[in-house]
Amino acid sequence: MIPYGRQNVDDDDIRAVVEVLRSAWLTTGPAVDAFEDGVREYVGAKHAVAVSSGTAALHAMMFAVGIGPGDEVIVPSMTFAATANAVVFQGGTPVFADVDPNTLLIDPASVEQNLTSRTKAVVAVDYAGQPCDYDVLRRICERHKIRLLADACHSLGAIYNGKRVGTLADASVFSFHPVKTITTGEGGMVVTDCDDLAARARLFRNHGITTDQRQRANLGTWHYEMVELGYNYRLTDIQCALGLSQLTKLDGWISRRQEIASLYRKAFLGKSGIRALGIAPGASHAYHLFVVRVPQRDAAFKAMRDKGIGVNVHYVPVHLHPYYRGRYGTEMGMCPMAESAYLSVLSLPMYPGLSDEDVRFVAQSLTGIVIP
Ligand SMILES: *Cc1c(COP(=O)(O)O)cnc(C)c1O
Repeated sequence: MIPYGRQNVDDDDIRAVVEVLRSAWLTTGPAVDAFEDGVREYVGAKHAVAVSSGTAALHAMMFAVGIGPGDEVIVPSMTFAATANAVVFQGGTPVFADVDPNTLLIDPASVEQNLTSRTKAVVAVDYAGQPCDYDVLRRICERHKIRLLADACHSLGAIYNGKRVGTLADASVFSFHPVKTITTGEGGMVVTDCDDLAARARLFRNHGITTDQRQRANLGTWHYEMVELGYNYRLTDIQCALGLSQLTKLDGWISRRQEIASLYRKAFLGKSGIRALGIAPGASHAYHLFVVRVPQRDAAFKAMRDKGIGVNVHYVPVHLHPYYRGRYGTEMGMCPMAESAYLSVLSLPMYPGLSDEDVRFVAQSLTGIVIP
C-alpha cells in the first residue's frame, strides 16, 4: 500500500534521539530550548513554545489570547476538528466560515458575514499547506480590533508574499504529527512575536506554574506558584531532539513535495474530470497534502484503495459533525462551498519519500478511474 503521507526518519535523527536518552534530561531540558530556537529562527518569529501536540498548541493559543465563555472565534469549516475544538476547550463558541471553492482556504467574505460583537478572533487554516490571504484577513481583524490566529499545522515552511508562515498572524501553531512536514511523533508549537502571548502559552503548558523544574534547579529553590489553570502539555527532550534534526531537512523535503505536486499537475493537465486545487499568486506551498477534486469521489476512493493507493479525504466539514450539530445547532447549508468540496475532494499520496515512479502510478491509476 502506498500511504497518503509518511514520515522520513534517518540515522541522524536516530543518533540525535539516542544522545538525549543517554543525557541527564529526558524532558524540559536543553533539547526543548534548542528545538524552540530552531523553529523560531527558521520562521523568523520572536518566540516559540513547544507543546505535546498541534491540538495542545491550538488550546494554548486560545488560552493565551484569552478566549472564554461568551466569546466567538471564526474558523473555517474545511479543517480538522481540533481547530474548532480548541475554542470549545476554553468555553468559547466556534463560528464556521465557508471557504473559497478554488483553494479551500477561508473565504474573507464569509469571515465578514460571520462577525458579531462577540467575535474575538479569526483562525486562518493553511489548508493542504497553502497560506491563506493573510493581508486581507489582517485588514478585517484590524478594522474590528480582533485577533488573527493561524492554524499552520499544514504549512510549516510555506511562504506568503516573501514572509514565512509563523510570522503572518498574532500567533500561529504547528503540528509535528508523522504525516506533517516534520515530526516529533506527537508534538506541536506556538510561535508569536508577542511577549505576553508567548509567556501565557509557556505557563499553560506547565500547569499554570510560573517556573519549570530546570529553572528551579538553576535557582536552587523548591518554591513555585501556580497562577493560572494549565495542563501538562510539555514536549519531551527526546521528541525535541528528533524535531531539531528533522528541521535541518525541511527545506529539501518541501522542494521534493513541490516537485511531486508539479508531476501530478502535469499528469492531470487536460484531464477534465480531475481538478487540482488552485494556488494563489505570491504563495509558496508546503504541500502537506495534494488534493484533487473528482466526480463520484466515493467510487474513485474505493477504486484507488483497491489498487493499493492510500488516498484519503480531508475533511468532513466540521459543522457537519454530530457533536457540533447537537451542541451548536450547525447544519447542512451553512457552508455550501465546504459542503460541496467535501463530496469531491481526494488527497493523493504526498511525502518526500514518494518516488517519481509511484507518482506516475498514482496519476495513471486516477486518470484511468475517473470518467469525466
Ligand atoms: C494535524 C492537525 C491538527 C492537530 O494536530 P495534532 O498534532 O494531531 O494534535 C490541527 N489542525 C490541523 C489543520 C491539522 O492538520
